[in-house]
Amino acid sequence: MTRNWHELFVDRGALSEGHFLLSSGRHSPAYVQCAKVLERPADAEALGQTLAQRVAGLAVDRVVAPPMGGILIGYEVARALGVPFLFPERDESGALALRRGFSLPQGDRVVVVEDVVTTGLTTREVLQLVRTKGGTPVGLMALVDRSEEHHVDGLPVQAVLQLQFPTFSPEGCPLCADAVPLTKPGSRAVVSGAR
Ligand code: ZN
Repeated sequence: MTRNWHELFVDRGALSEGHFLLSSGRHSPAYVQCAKVLERPADAEALGQTLAQRVAGLAVDRVVAPPMGGILIGYEVARALGVPFLFPERDESGALALRRGFSLPQGDRVVVVEDVVTTGLTTREVLQLVRTKGGTPVGLMALVDRSEEHHVDGLPVQAVLQLQFPTFSPEGCPLCADAVPLTKPGSRAVVSGAR
C-alpha cells in the first residue's frame, strides 16, 4: 500500500503553509520542519522503510548521514537495510570528519541520507568525505527534495517528497503586499502584521 506521505507531513506539522520568515531572512509561503515528521518512532521507521526500498537492489554496505537533521532518518534507513550507520561531524576547522572511532571500510558501497536537500552544499561535502575515505556513494536519499537540479554530484536525489516553493525578499514578497501576518517558524509569534 502506498501511503500519502504529503498528508503525513501536514498532519504532523512538518509542512506548513502561510507566510514564514526563513533563517536566511527571506519570506516563504511554506515551511518544512522534518524533525516533526520523525517525532513518532513508528513514522520514522515507515519513512526509513520506504526510502530503503528504493535502493534495495544496490547491495548497500553502509548508510552515512550528516548531523543533525540526517541522523534519525539515516539510522532508520540503515535499520531497514540491515546495514551499519555512521555520521560525520564538524571538526575544529569546520570541515566534516569521521570522529568517535567511525571508519569507512575501503570500497564500501554507501548510501547518503539527508532530511532536506536544498542547495546540496552539505550533501556534496558528505559525498566528498565518503569518497576521500575510500567509500563509493551509490545512492542519495532525502525526506524532502527542495533542490532545483534533483541531483548532487551526479547522484539523483531519491526523496519521499519533492517540494518546490518560492522564497521572496521582504521587499518583493507578495504575501507582505497582501498584508498576510508573517510568522517565524518554530514559534507561534507573529513577527509582523499588516503594513
Ligand atoms: Zn513576506
